[in-house]
Amino acid sequence: MTELERSLQSAALPITLDAVTKSYDANEVIPPLSATFRAGEFTVVLGPSGCGKSTMLQMLAGLEKVSGGTISFGDRQVQDLEPKHRGCAMVFQNYALYPHMSVRDNIAYSLKVANVPRGERQERVAAVAAMLSLDQYLDRRPSQLSGGQRQRVAIGRAIIREPSVLLFDEPLSNLDAKLRHDMRMELADLHRRIGATTVFVTHDQVEAMTLADRILILNNGRIEQFDTPKQVYRSPASIFVAQFIGAPPMNILPAQGDGTMLRLPSGEVLLASHLRGDVMVGIRPEDVRIGPVDASTSPIPARVAYREDLGSHEVLSARLRSGTTINIATAPGEETALHSSEVSLHFPQRHLHIFDAVTGQSLSNTKKDS
Ligand code: ADP
Ligand code: MG
Repeated sequence: MTELERSLQSAALPITLDAVTKSYDANEVIPPLSATFRAGEFTVVLGPSGCGKSTMLQMLAGLEKVSGGTISFGDRQVQDLEPKHRGCAMVFQNYALYPHMSVRDNIAYSLKVANVPRGERQERVAAVAAMLSLDQYLDRRPSQLSGGQRQRVAIGRAIIREPSVLLFDEPLSNLDAKLRHDMRMELADLHRRIGATTVFVTHDQVEAMTLADRILILNNGRIEQFDTPKQVYRSPASIFVAQFIGAPPMNILPAQGDGTMLRLPSGEVLLASHLRGDVMVGIRPEDVRIGPVDASTSPIPARVAYREDLGSHEVLSARLRSGTTINIATAPGEETALHSSEVSLHFPQRHLHIFDAVTGQSLSNTKKDS
């Protein structure tokens, strides 16, 4: 571990939001929100455009005032502090590099503003550049760098002050698919080395699933779920989460309970349950089985209406007798057994998710571990 990595790791602090709210005039963008991001943890805030992700990040950074509540870094309340006194740094989507300055001066900028002596500045730039493999580029201008290199300069500029909190607002969304993948790997590696408490905002579920220690899923400024990638995938707390994570999204079907069984409207039994009345049942496309697989689940007749061949597997669109259309992701090789558009589907019980038909909240209280 380098000196720089050691001091970054020791600087990490937990972040606590306590009943934080934000309104623009009469428009309440964030109703009271409380959450704790653990020291050194990589939290991804995930949600659709306009749900309040950037607003939340800007309140952490001090670029927006809170309308109510408190924000603490460690045991220090920061919500009334100027950004520069919070010990946090932010990386923006467009990087916001100074075009007329060299990479070296961009990275050193905040140290210069803070009147750090020249010798120390040079040492720290060298350490950051080494860490981010930017050594050969220090004399270039941002315009002479690739997108990924600019991204690294923006990160270098953020970490040079050894922030206890590192904030990212959709930093990968301007990059092409290949570069996004490479940058995800770099960010994951960088986080392992520097260990700063990191809050990373995105609307991209793949970034969230691959980078996060825990994902905070935001919908209209409210927390839908805050849990590990595995848990939000396996045990979504609501229909919103179930359909936001996973592609194609989880199928959601209306069903009725009579106190002993849950059935589709067309009569097929889904599973034994004490629930009564209307519920919503979810099953992921990859969990639907085609053909007679397991005698314990009753077959559900369906007609395949559309097939998409993705090379590694197919995604089928099938219509049930109840009229609902569902997506099915086949296992590699499975589609070759499909000789007719009339198929028999099986919904393995352990893969079913049950939700309240009115609130959309999960009613499955057992964790789906298999
Ligand atoms: P996200 O980053 O999740 O896309 P934002 O945090 O940028 O969402 O915005 C959340 C909501 O707050 C949006 O409805 C947006 O229109 C509103 N909003 C953001 N900034 C302002 C502002 N300065 N004035 C008024 N409304 C704003
Ligand atoms: Mg935003």
